[in-house]
Amino acid sequence: MSLNDLFTEIILDHYQHPHNHGIIAEPTMSSRGFNESCGDDIQVSVIVRDGTITDVKFSGAGCSISQASASVMTDLIIGKSVDEVKTLAAKFYEMVKGSGGDYGEELGDAVAFQGVSKFPVRVKCATLGWHTLEEAFKSADKK
Ligand code: ZN
Repeated sequence: MSLNDLFTEIILDHYQHPHNHGIIAEPTMSSRGFNESCGDDIQVSVIVRDGTITDVKFSGAGCSISQASASVMTDLIIGKSVDEVKTLAAKFYEMVKGSGGDYGEELGDAVAFQGVSKFPVRVKCATLGWHTLEEAFKSADKK
C-alpha cells in the first residue's frame, strides 16, 4: 500500500465513520462555517474548561475532504489547550498550502490531507473545520 493509498484510506474512513459527530447541547463555544465554492457546511461546538478543550463535536454536510478533516480535527484537539490548538491549526494551514514541512508527530492523522495542496480548490474544504473552530474561539473572546 502506497502512502497515498493509506492517506485516502484514512480520509474515507473518517468520512464514513466520523468521530465526535453531533452537537453538544450546552457548548461553551460554537460556530458554523460554510465553504460556498463546494457547498460544505460545518457546525462545531466545544466545551472549554480552564483553557483546555474537554469536548468537541461537529456536524454538517459536505464533501468527503471537509467532513473527514473535521473528524480528524476533533480527535486531535480534545485534551489540548486553546493556544496549542491555535498553533496546530496554523501548522495544518501551512501543510495544506504545500509548505513541505514534516508535521507527522503533531498533526497525527491530519497529515493525510497534505496531498490537498495539489488541489487548491480543495484547500478550503480541508481547512473549513479548523477555521470554524477558530471562529468559535473568537466569538467566545468577544463575550
Ligand atoms: Zn468540499
